[in-house]
Amino acid sequence: MNYKSTRDVRENQGYVSAAEAIKEGLAPDGGLYIPESFPAISADEFVKLGKMNYAERAHFILAKFLDDYDQTLLASDCREAYSEERFPGGAAPLHTMNDGIYSLELWHGPTSAFKDMALQLMPRLLSRALKMTGEERISHILVATSGDTGKAALEGYKDVDGVKITVFYPVDGVSRMQKHQMQTTGGKNTYVAAVRGNFDDTQNGVKAIFSDRSLAENANENGFFFGSANSINWGRLVPQIVYYVSAYCDLVNSGDISCGDKINICVPTGNFGNIFAAYIASKMGLPVNRFICASNSNNVLTDFINTGVYDRTREFYKTISPSMDILISSNLERLISVLGGASLTADLMAQLKENGVYKAPDELMAKIREVFSGYSMNEEETSAAIAEVYKNEHYLIDPHTAVGYGCIKKYREATGDETKTVLASTASPYKFAPAVADALGVSYDEDNIFALLTKLADETGTVVPEPLAKTLGLEVRFTEVLDKEEMPDLVFRV
Ligand SMILES: *Cc1c(COP(=O)(O)O)cnc(C)c1O
Repeated sequence: MNYKSTRDVRENQGYVSAAEAIKEGLAPDGGLYIPESFPAISADEFVKLGKMNYAERAHFILAKFLDDYDQTLLASDCREAYSEERFPGGAAPLHTMNDGIYSLELWHGPTSAFKDMALQLMPRLLSRALKMTGEERISHILVATSGDTGKAALEGYKDVDGVKITVFYPVDGVSRMQKHQMQTTGGKNTYVAAVRGNFDDTQNGVKAIFSDRSLAENANENGFFFGSANSINWGRLVPQIVYYVSAYCDLVNSGDISCGDKINICVPTGNFGNIFAAYIASKMGLPVNRFICASNSNNVLTDFINTGVYDRTREFYKTISPSMDILISSNLERLISVLGGASLTADLMAQLKENGVYKAPDELMAKIREVFSGYSMNEEETSAAIAEVYKNEHYLIDPHTAVGYGCIKKYREATGDETKTVLASTASPYKFAPAVADALGVSYDEDNIFALLTKLADETGTVVPEPLAKTLGLEVRFTEVLDKEEMPDLVFRV
Protein backbone atom coordinates (compact mmCIF):
# COMPACT_ATOMS: atom_id res chain seq x y z
CA MET A 1 0.00 0.00 0.00
CA ASN A 2 1.40 3.38 -1.04
CA TYR A 3 0.69 6.73 0.56
CA LYS A 4 0.73 10.13 -1.02
CA SER A 5 0.25 13.75 0.04
CA THR A 6 -3.26 15.19 -0.31
CA ARG A 7 -1.67 18.02 -2.33
CA ASP A 8 0.63 16.03 -4.62
CA VAL A 9 -0.58 16.26 -8.25
CA ARG A 10 2.10 14.03 -9.80
CA GLU A 11 1.02 10.72 -11.36
CA ASN A 12 2.62 7.57 -9.94
CA GLN A 13 5.23 9.53 -8.04
CA GLY A 14 5.82 10.81 -4.54
CA TYR A 15 4.72 7.62 -2.85
CA VAL A 16 5.88 6.56 0.60
CA SER A 17 5.28 3.38 2.62
CA ALA A 18 2.96 3.26 5.64
CA ALA A 19 5.98 3.21 7.98
CA GLU A 20 7.40 6.34 6.35
CA ALA A 21 4.03 8.12 6.46
CA ILE A 22 3.68 7.34 10.17
CA LYS A 23 7.24 8.37 10.99
CA GLU A 24 7.00 11.67 9.07
CA GLY A 25 3.47 12.72 10.09
CA LEU A 26 3.11 15.64 7.69
CA ALA A 27 4.09 15.37 3.99
CA PRO A 28 6.96 17.63 2.83
CA ASP A 29 4.57 19.84 0.80
CA GLY A 30 2.45 20.52 3.90
CA GLY A 31 -0.29 18.06 2.89
CA LEU A 32 -1.52 15.00 4.78
CA TYR A 33 -0.82 11.41 3.80
CA ILE A 34 -3.64 9.35 2.30
CA PRO A 35 -3.55 5.83 0.84
CA GLU A 36 -3.48 5.65 -2.97
CA SER A 37 -6.65 3.53 -2.84
CA PHE A 38 -9.03 2.06 -0.29
CA PRO A 39 -8.78 -1.71 0.18
CA ALA A 40 -12.10 -3.56 0.10
CA ILE A 41 -13.64 -5.77 2.75
CA SER A 42 -15.46 -8.59 0.93
CA ALA A 43 -18.76 -10.16 2.03
CA ASP A 44 -16.86 -13.27 3.16
CA GLU A 45 -14.50 -11.13 5.18
CA PHE A 46 -17.39 -9.41 6.95
CA VAL A 47 -18.59 -12.85 8.06
CA LYS A 48 -15.08 -13.65 9.33
CA LEU A 49 -14.81 -10.32 11.14
CA GLY A 50 -18.09 -11.04 12.91
CA LYS A 51 -16.50 -13.99 14.69
CA MET A 52 -13.39 -12.13 15.84
CA ASN A 53 -12.70 -10.22 19.03
CA TYR A 54 -11.80 -6.52 18.90
CA ALA A 55 -8.01 -6.94 18.74
CA GLU A 56 -8.37 -9.44 15.89
CA ARG A 57 -10.71 -7.12 14.00
CA ALA A 58 -8.16 -4.33 14.49
CA HIS A 59 -5.34 -6.42 13.09
CA PHE A 60 -7.47 -7.57 10.16
CA ILE A 61 -8.24 -3.97 9.11
CA LEU A 62 -4.77 -2.59 9.86
CA ALA A 63 -3.08 -5.35 7.87
CA LYS A 64 -4.77 -4.00 4.72
CA PHE A 65 -3.23 -0.56 5.22
CA LEU A 66 0.09 -1.44 6.90
CA ASP A 67 1.18 -4.23 4.58
CA ASP A 68 4.85 -3.26 5.02
CA TYR A 69 4.67 -4.18 8.73
CA ASP A 70 5.59 -7.56 10.21
CA GLN A 71 2.09 -9.02 10.62
CA THR A 72 2.94 -11.17 13.65
CA LEU A 73 4.20 -8.11 15.50
CA LEU A 74 1.24 -6.01 14.33
CA ALA A 75 -1.16 -8.64 15.66
CA SER A 76 0.55 -8.67 19.04
CA ASP A 77 0.57 -4.84 19.16
CA CYS A 78 -3.21 -4.89 18.60
CA ARG A 79 -3.68 -7.50 21.34
CA GLU A 80 -1.70 -5.43 23.81
CA ALA A 81 -3.28 -2.10 22.88
CA TYR A 82 -6.85 -3.40 23.25
CA SER A 83 -6.28 -5.79 26.14
CA GLU A 84 -8.81 -6.31 28.92
CA GLU A 85 -6.37 -4.55 31.25
CA ARG A 86 -6.41 -1.37 29.15
CA PHE A 87 -10.06 -1.54 28.12
CA PRO A 88 -11.93 -3.33 30.91
CA GLY A 89 -15.18 -4.79 29.57
CA GLY A 90 -14.23 -4.43 25.89
CA ALA A 91 -12.74 -1.75 23.64
CA ALA A 92 -15.81 -0.35 21.86
CA PRO A 93 -19.10 -1.71 23.24
CA LEU A 94 -22.49 -0.64 21.89
CA HIS A 95 -25.23 0.62 24.18
CA THR A 96 -28.72 0.36 22.68
CA MET A 97 -30.65 3.60 23.10
CA ASN A 98 -34.30 4.31 22.24
CA ASP A 99 -35.47 4.90 18.65
CA GLY A 100 -32.84 2.85 16.81
CA ILE A 101 -29.83 4.78 18.09
CA TYR A 102 -26.77 2.85 19.20
CA SER A 103 -24.19 4.59 21.35
CA LEU A 104 -20.71 3.35 20.42
CA GLU A 105 -18.86 3.85 23.70
CA LEU A 106 -15.30 4.75 22.77
CA TRP A 107 -14.26 5.79 26.28
CA HIS A 108 -13.46 2.59 28.15
CA GLY A 109 -9.70 3.14 27.85
CA PRO A 110 -7.10 4.51 30.28
CA THR A 111 -8.15 8.19 30.03
CA SER A 112 -11.94 7.81 29.55
CA ALA A 113 -12.02 9.61 26.20
CA PHE A 114 -12.07 8.27 22.64
CA LYS A 115 -8.52 9.40 21.83
CA ASP A 116 -7.35 6.29 23.68
CA MET A 117 -8.71 4.17 20.81
CA ALA A 118 -5.97 5.54 18.54
CA LEU A 119 -3.33 6.56 21.05
CA GLN A 120 -3.06 3.15 22.68
CA LEU A 121 -1.99 1.71 19.33
CA MET A 122 -0.29 4.50 17.41
CA PRO A 123 2.86 4.75 19.59
CA ARG A 124 3.49 1.08 18.93
CA LEU A 125 3.07 1.69 15.18
CA LEU A 126 5.58 4.54 15.42
CA SER A 127 8.07 2.52 17.43
CA ARG A 128 7.97 -0.22 14.73
CA ALA A 129 8.20 2.39 11.94
CA LEU A 130 11.39 3.81 13.46
CA LYS A 131 13.01 0.37 13.44
CA MET A 132 11.75 -0.42 9.92
CA THR A 133 13.18 2.80 8.50
CA GLY A 134 16.55 2.26 10.21
CA GLU A 135 16.06 5.21 12.54
CA GLU A 136 18.52 5.12 15.42
CA ARG A 137 17.55 8.35 17.10
CA ILE A 138 14.89 8.65 19.80
CA SER A 139 11.65 10.33 18.72
CA HIS A 140 10.87 12.99 21.29
CA ILE A 141 7.12 13.66 21.00
CA LEU A 142 6.08 17.20 21.96
CA VAL A 143 2.41 17.88 22.67
CA ALA A 144 0.62 21.12 23.42
CA THR A 145 -2.75 20.23 24.88
CA SER A 146 -5.94 21.94 25.99
CA GLY A 147 -6.91 18.80 27.89
CA ASP A 148 -7.82 15.40 26.46
CA THR A 149 -5.06 14.75 23.95
CA GLY A 150 -2.24 15.31 26.45
CA LYS A 151 -3.29 12.62 28.86
CA ALA A 152 -4.23 10.14 26.13
CA ALA A 153 -0.83 10.68 24.47
CA LEU A 154 1.00 10.27 27.80
CA GLU A 155 -0.75 6.97 28.48
CA GLY A 156 -0.10 5.79 24.93
CA TYR A 157 3.61 6.66 24.72
CA LYS A 158 4.39 5.72 28.31
CA ASP A 159 7.29 3.21 28.36
CA VAL A 160 7.18 2.60 24.58
CA ASP A 161 10.60 1.79 23.03
CA GLY A 162 12.42 4.46 21.05
CA VAL A 163 10.20 7.35 22.10
CA LYS A 164 9.98 9.95 24.82
CA ILE A 165 7.09 12.37 25.41
CA THR A 166 6.76 15.84 26.89
CA VAL A 167 3.32 17.41 27.31
CA PHE A 168 2.76 21.13 27.85
CA TYR A 169 -0.53 22.56 29.03
CA PRO A 170 -1.61 26.16 29.73
CA VAL A 171 -1.36 26.68 33.49
CA ASP A 172 -4.96 27.88 33.90
CA GLY A 173 -6.39 26.46 30.70
CA VAL A 174 -7.37 22.89 31.60
CA SER A 175 -9.94 21.45 34.00
CA ARG A 176 -8.90 20.23 37.45
CA MET A 177 -9.58 16.67 36.45
CA GLN A 178 -7.50 16.96 33.29
CA LYS A 179 -4.62 18.58 35.18
CA HIS A 180 -4.67 15.91 37.87
CA GLN A 181 -4.78 13.15 35.24
CA MET A 182 -1.67 14.53 33.55
CA GLN A 183 0.29 15.37 36.69
CA THR A 184 -0.04 11.86 38.07
CA THR A 185 1.16 10.03 34.94
CA GLY A 186 3.71 7.26 35.50
CA GLY A 187 6.40 5.99 33.10
CA LYS A 188 10.14 6.42 32.63
CA ASN A 189 9.89 8.41 29.39
CA THR A 190 7.15 10.92 30.28
CA TYR A 191 7.30 14.54 31.34
CA VAL A 192 4.60 17.17 31.93
CA ALA A 193 4.94 20.92 32.45
CA ALA A 194 2.54 23.84 32.76
CA VAL A 195 3.17 26.96 30.68
CA ARG A 196 2.24 30.47 31.86
CA GLY A 197 -0.29 31.84 29.38
CA ASN A 198 -3.20 30.43 27.39
CA PHE A 199 -3.44 27.51 24.99
CA ASP A 200 -2.24 29.59 22.03
CA ASP A 201 0.94 30.55 23.94
CA THR A 202 1.56 26.89 24.72
CA GLN A 203 0.95 25.77 21.16
CA ASN A 204 3.09 28.56 19.74
CA GLY A 205 5.89 27.51 22.10
CA VAL A 206 5.78 23.98 20.70
CA LYS A 207 5.53 25.19 17.11
CA ALA A 208 8.56 27.44 17.68
CA ILE A 209 10.60 24.40 18.75
CA PHE A 210 9.44 22.41 15.70
CA SER A 211 10.45 25.17 13.30
CA ASP A 212 13.82 26.07 14.87
CA ARG A 213 16.59 24.57 12.75
CA SER A 214 19.35 25.03 15.30
CA LEU A 215 17.27 23.18 17.90
CA ALA A 216 16.76 20.36 15.39
CA GLU A 217 20.52 20.12 14.79
CA ASN A 218 21.21 20.22 18.49
CA ALA A 219 18.67 17.43 19.03
CA ASN A 220 20.26 15.41 16.26
CA GLU A 221 23.68 15.68 17.95
CA ASN A 222 22.05 14.49 21.14
CA GLY A 223 20.54 11.44 19.43
CA PHE A 224 16.92 12.47 19.10
CA PHE A 225 14.48 14.30 16.85
CA PHE A 226 11.14 16.00 17.52
CA GLY A 227 7.86 14.31 16.65
CA SER A 228 4.17 15.10 17.10
CA ALA A 229 1.14 13.06 18.13
CA ASN A 230 -1.79 14.93 16.59
CA SER A 231 -4.50 13.64 14.31
CA ILE A 232 -2.91 14.71 11.06
CA ASN A 233 -0.76 11.57 11.40
CA TRP A 234 -2.06 8.58 9.43
CA GLY A 235 -1.10 6.33 12.35
CA ARG A 236 -3.74 8.00 14.47
CA LEU A 237 -6.44 7.73 11.85
CA VAL A 238 -6.18 4.10 10.80
CA PRO A 239 -7.02 2.57 14.23
CA GLN A 240 -10.23 4.64 14.19
CA ILE A 241 -11.59 2.84 11.12
CA VAL A 242 -11.78 -0.37 13.12
CA TYR A 243 -14.53 0.50 15.59
CA TYR A 244 -17.05 1.45 12.91
CA VAL A 245 -16.58 -1.92 11.23
CA SER A 246 -16.64 -3.59 14.64
CA ALA A 247 -19.91 -1.85 15.60
CA TYR A 248 -21.51 -3.04 12.36
CA CYS A 249 -20.44 -6.63 13.07
CA ASP A 250 -21.86 -6.38 16.58
CA LEU A 251 -25.20 -5.11 15.23
CA VAL A 252 -25.37 -8.01 12.80
CA ASN A 253 -24.44 -10.47 15.57
CA SER A 254 -27.13 -9.12 17.88
CA GLY A 255 -29.75 -9.33 15.12
CA ASP A 256 -30.43 -5.58 15.18
CA ILE A 257 -29.57 -5.43 11.46
CA SER A 258 -28.98 -7.97 8.70
CA CYS A 259 -25.64 -8.13 6.94
CA GLY A 260 -25.84 -5.65 4.04
CA ASP A 261 -28.34 -3.28 5.71
CA LYS A 262 -27.33 0.36 5.57
CA ILE A 263 -26.80 2.35 8.75
CA ASN A 264 -26.28 6.04 9.50
CA ILE A 265 -23.27 7.20 11.51
CA CYS A 266 -23.21 10.37 13.60
CA VAL A 267 -19.92 11.76 14.94
CA PRO A 268 -19.38 14.73 17.28
CA THR A 269 -16.69 16.44 15.27
CA GLY A 270 -13.75 18.75 15.87
CA ASN A 271 -10.74 18.07 13.68
CA PHE A 272 -12.78 15.83 11.31
CA GLY A 273 -10.49 12.86 12.06
CA ASN A 274 -13.02 10.54 13.66
CA ILE A 275 -15.74 11.08 11.05
CA PHE A 276 -13.22 10.73 8.22
CA ALA A 277 -12.24 7.33 9.63
CA ALA A 278 -15.92 6.35 9.39
CA TYR A 279 -15.94 7.55 5.79
CA ILE A 280 -12.92 5.36 4.99
CA ALA A 281 -14.79 2.38 6.48
CA SER A 282 -17.60 3.08 4.00
CA LYS A 283 -15.10 3.31 1.12
CA MET A 284 -13.95 -0.18 2.17
CA GLY A 285 -17.49 -1.51 1.85
CA LEU A 286 -19.23 -0.75 5.15
CA PRO A 287 -22.88 -0.12 4.18
CA VAL A 288 -23.47 3.49 5.24
CA ASN A 289 -26.39 5.58 4.09
CA ARG A 290 -25.37 8.91 5.65
CA PHE A 291 -22.77 10.56 7.89
CA ILE A 292 -24.10 13.17 10.29
CA CYS A 293 -21.37 15.65 11.13
CA ALA A 294 -22.27 17.11 14.54
CA SER A 295 -20.84 20.43 15.77
CA ASN A 296 -21.25 22.67 18.81
CA SER A 297 -21.50 26.49 18.60
CA ASN A 298 -18.21 26.49 16.69
CA ASN A 299 -20.21 25.34 13.69
CA VAL A 300 -17.75 26.04 10.89
CA LEU A 301 -18.33 22.55 9.44
CA THR A 302 -22.13 22.82 9.52
CA ASP A 303 -21.87 26.03 7.53
CA PHE A 304 -19.38 24.48 5.13
CA ILE A 305 -21.57 21.47 4.38
CA ASN A 306 -24.64 23.66 3.94
CA THR A 307 -23.14 26.59 1.99
CA GLY A 308 -19.84 25.38 0.49
CA VAL A 309 -17.98 28.23 2.20
CA TYR A 310 -15.35 27.36 4.80
CA ASP A 311 -14.80 30.44 6.92
CA ARG A 312 -12.64 30.32 9.99
CA THR A 313 -12.70 34.10 10.43
CA ARG A 314 -15.46 34.04 13.01
CA GLU A 315 -15.96 34.29 16.73
CA PHE A 316 -14.50 31.42 18.76
CA TYR A 317 -16.71 30.06 21.55
CA LYS A 318 -15.59 28.21 24.67
CA THR A 319 -18.26 25.53 25.14
CA ILE A 320 -19.14 22.67 27.48
CA SER A 321 -17.90 20.31 24.73
CA PRO A 322 -14.37 21.79 24.63
CA SER A 323 -12.74 19.00 22.59
CA MET A 324 -14.79 20.24 19.61
CA ASP A 325 -13.89 23.91 20.06
CA ILE A 326 -11.96 24.08 16.80
CA LEU A 327 -12.08 26.42 13.81
CA ILE A 328 -9.62 24.62 11.56
CA SER A 329 -10.69 21.03 10.97
CA SER A 330 -7.41 19.72 9.55
CA ASN A 331 -8.67 16.34 8.38
CA LEU A 332 -11.31 17.86 6.11
CA GLU A 333 -8.37 18.25 3.73
CA ARG A 334 -8.31 14.48 3.31
CA LEU A 335 -11.98 14.35 2.25
CA ILE A 336 -11.46 17.21 -0.19
CA SER A 337 -8.49 15.44 -1.72
CA VAL A 338 -10.31 12.12 -2.09
CA LEU A 339 -13.39 13.72 -3.68
CA GLY A 340 -11.90 16.77 -5.40
CA GLY A 341 -8.30 15.85 -6.25
CA ALA A 342 -4.87 17.12 -5.22
CA SER A 343 -4.74 20.27 -7.31
CA LEU A 344 -8.01 21.64 -5.94
CA THR A 345 -6.90 20.69 -2.41
CA ALA A 346 -3.62 22.59 -2.72
CA ASP A 347 -5.51 25.60 -4.04
CA LEU A 348 -8.20 25.65 -1.31
CA MET A 349 -5.69 25.07 1.51
CA ALA A 350 -3.55 27.96 0.24
CA GLN A 351 -6.65 30.19 0.30
CA LEU A 352 -7.46 29.04 3.84
CA LYS A 353 -3.95 29.84 5.00
CA GLU A 354 -3.88 33.23 3.32
CA ASN A 355 -7.42 34.51 3.84
CA GLY A 356 -8.93 32.17 6.42
CA VAL A 357 -11.74 31.34 3.98
CA TYR A 358 -12.45 29.45 0.77
CA LYS A 359 -15.43 28.52 -1.36
CA ALA A 360 -15.52 24.95 -2.64
CA PRO A 361 -16.79 24.32 -6.18
CA ASP A 362 -20.38 23.10 -6.56
CA GLU A 363 -19.34 19.74 -8.05
CA LEU A 364 -17.30 18.97 -4.94
CA MET A 365 -20.09 20.08 -2.63
CA ALA A 366 -22.58 17.88 -4.49
CA LYS A 367 -20.34 14.87 -3.84
CA ILE A 368 -19.94 15.76 -0.17
CA ARG A 369 -23.68 16.31 0.34
CA GLU A 370 -24.46 12.97 -1.27
CA VAL A 371 -23.25 11.32 1.96
CA PHE A 372 -22.64 14.02 4.59
CA SER A 373 -25.14 16.16 6.49
CA GLY A 374 -24.12 18.84 8.98
CA TYR A 375 -26.01 19.98 12.08
CA SER A 376 -25.05 21.91 15.20
CA MET A 377 -26.18 22.30 18.80
CA ASN A 378 -25.91 25.38 21.00
CA GLU A 379 -25.11 25.22 24.73
CA GLU A 380 -28.70 25.16 26.01
CA GLU A 381 -29.68 22.46 23.53
CA THR A 382 -26.68 20.35 24.53
CA SER A 383 -27.47 20.61 28.20
CA ALA A 384 -31.13 19.81 27.53
CA ALA A 385 -30.15 16.72 25.53
CA ILE A 386 -28.14 15.33 28.47
CA ALA A 387 -31.16 15.83 30.75
CA GLU A 388 -33.61 14.40 28.22
CA VAL A 389 -31.65 11.21 27.59
CA TYR A 390 -31.13 10.67 31.30
CA LYS A 391 -34.82 11.26 32.07
CA ASN A 392 -36.17 9.11 29.24
CA GLU A 393 -33.78 6.20 29.27
CA HIS A 394 -31.63 6.52 32.37
CA TYR A 395 -28.47 6.70 30.27
CA LEU A 396 -25.81 9.23 31.14
CA ILE A 397 -24.00 10.91 28.21
CA ASP A 398 -21.24 13.52 28.15
CA PRO A 399 -21.68 16.91 26.41
CA HIS A 400 -19.84 15.82 23.21
CA THR A 401 -22.05 12.76 22.84
CA ALA A 402 -25.07 14.96 23.59
CA VAL A 403 -24.17 17.21 20.66
CA GLY A 404 -24.19 14.13 18.44
CA TYR A 405 -27.47 12.87 19.88
CA GLY A 406 -29.19 16.21 19.33
CA CYS A 407 -27.93 16.38 15.75
CA ILE A 408 -29.40 12.96 15.00
CA LYS A 409 -32.76 14.27 16.22
CA LYS A 410 -32.45 17.40 14.06
CA TYR A 411 -31.46 15.36 11.03
CA ARG A 412 -34.39 12.99 11.48
CA GLU A 413 -36.81 15.85 11.89
CA ALA A 414 -35.53 17.57 8.75
CA THR A 415 -35.41 14.48 6.53
CA GLY A 416 -37.74 11.86 7.99
CA ASP A 417 -34.89 9.35 7.56
CA GLU A 418 -35.17 6.95 10.51
CA THR A 419 -32.33 4.62 9.46
CA LYS A 420 -30.70 2.92 12.45
CA THR A 421 -27.87 5.12 13.60
CA VAL A 422 -24.54 4.52 15.31
CA LEU A 423 -23.63 7.49 17.52
CA ALA A 424 -19.93 7.83 18.34
CA SER A 425 -19.86 8.43 22.11
CA THR A 426 -16.53 10.16 22.52
CA ALA A 427 -16.11 10.68 26.26
CA SER A 428 -17.28 9.30 29.57
CA PRO A 429 -19.81 11.61 31.28
CA TYR A 430 -17.50 11.55 34.31
CA LYS A 431 -14.74 13.20 32.35
CA PHE A 432 -16.99 16.26 32.01
CA ALA A 433 -18.76 15.87 35.34
CA PRO A 434 -19.48 19.56 36.11
CA ALA A 435 -21.34 20.13 32.81
CA VAL A 436 -23.27 16.89 33.26
CA ALA A 437 -24.17 17.78 36.85
CA ASP A 438 -25.35 21.23 35.73
CA ALA A 439 -27.56 19.63 33.09
CA LEU A 440 -29.12 17.27 35.63
CA GLY A 441 -29.49 19.93 38.33
CA VAL A 442 -27.06 18.17 40.67
CA SER A 443 -25.32 20.71 42.93
CA TYR A 444 -21.63 20.51 43.83
CA ASP A 445 -18.77 22.38 45.39
CA GLU A 446 -16.71 24.06 42.65
CA ASP A 447 -13.57 23.50 44.70
CA ASN A 448 -14.09 19.79 45.07
CA ILE A 449 -14.66 18.29 41.65
CA PHE A 450 -13.49 14.92 42.92
CA ALA A 451 -16.37 14.74 45.43
CA LEU A 452 -18.68 15.46 42.52
CA LEU A 453 -17.75 12.20 40.81
CA THR A 454 -18.95 10.18 43.79
CA LYS A 455 -22.05 12.30 44.09
CA LEU A 456 -22.89 11.89 40.40
CA ALA A 457 -22.48 8.13 40.78
CA ASP A 458 -24.74 8.05 43.83
CA GLU A 459 -27.42 10.23 42.26
CA THR A 460 -27.56 8.33 38.97
CA GLY A 461 -26.74 4.80 40.08
CA THR A 462 -23.89 4.62 37.54
CA VAL A 463 -20.22 3.96 38.26
CA VAL A 464 -17.15 6.16 38.01
CA PRO A 465 -14.86 4.59 35.33
CA GLU A 466 -12.05 2.68 36.97
CA PRO A 467 -9.17 4.70 35.43
CA LEU A 468 -10.67 7.99 36.64
CA ALA A 469 -11.37 6.57 40.10
CA LYS A 470 -7.81 5.24 40.30
CA THR A 471 -6.31 8.57 39.24
CA LEU A 472 -7.97 10.30 42.17
CA GLY A 473 -5.74 8.48 44.64
CA LEU A 474 -2.47 8.93 42.75
CA GLU A 475 0.25 11.24 43.90
CA VAL A 476 1.11 14.33 41.84
CA ARG A 477 4.43 13.79 40.10
CA PHE A 478 4.86 16.83 37.82
CA THR A 479 4.53 20.35 39.21
CA GLU A 480 6.88 22.42 37.04
CA VAL A 481 5.49 25.74 35.76
CA LEU A 482 7.52 27.73 33.24
CA ASP A 483 7.47 30.58 30.74
CA LYS A 484 7.10 29.91 27.04
CA GLU A 485 10.70 31.04 26.49
CA GLU A 486 11.96 28.28 28.79
CA MET A 487 10.36 25.46 26.80
CA PRO A 488 13.37 24.76 24.51
CA ASP A 489 15.67 24.40 27.54
CA LEU A 490 13.29 21.96 29.10
CA VAL A 491 13.16 19.58 26.15
CA PHE A 492 16.94 19.17 26.29
CA ARG A 493 16.91 18.74 30.05
CA VAL A 494 14.27 16.03 30.58
C1 LIG B 1 -11.07 14.94 20.08
C2 LIG B 1 -12.50 14.79 20.50
C3 LIG B 1 -13.57 14.99 19.59
C4 LIG B 1 -13.36 15.43 18.15
O1 LIG B 1 -12.80 14.42 17.35
P1 LIG B 1 -12.15 14.80 15.92
O2 LIG B 1 -11.52 13.55 15.44
O3 LIG B 1 -11.14 15.87 16.23
O4 LIG B 1 -13.24 15.28 15.06
C5 LIG B 1 -14.87 14.81 20.04
N1 LIG B 1 -15.12 14.47 21.33
C6 LIG B 1 -14.12 14.28 22.23
C7 LIG B 1 -14.47 13.92 23.64
C8 LIG B 1 -12.78 14.42 21.86
O5 LIG B 1 -11.80 14.24 22.77
